[in-house]
Amino acid sequence: MSDDVGGEFVFPERWRDLRGRDAADERDRAKVERELSRETAEGHVLFAVSVNAVAACGHCDDVLFALKDGRLACVHLTYVRSAPDRLPWPETKLLDGWSGLVEYVEAHGEL
Ligand SMILES: [Zn+2]
Repeated sequence: MSDDVGGEFVFPERWRDLRGRDAADERDRAKVERELSRETAEGHVLFAVSVNAVAACGHCDDVLFALKDGRLACVHLTYVRSAPDRLPWPETKLLDGWSGLVEYVEAHGEL
């Protein structure tokens, strides 16, 4: 986990910010990071890509991950029973960075 992912960005209430340092944050990050790697098949844009979980929506299965190159990925985890999931799932939207996230989070709040 790299420090200060996204710096000062404050997530709206429905998001669980996973950037903290306590054991629960660490556990929840590990859980969704493991789930992502379980669900992505070869050919998926995040297949075998190293990511850090950033936040999880409390209303749906969307999770935000930070990539090493500064981009962010919004992934709708499927919790598919027999992994990996079939392409193109899990549905993934790549954002150029934290500036794109503001728009995404605002739009997401209206769903
Ligand atoms: Zn949601």
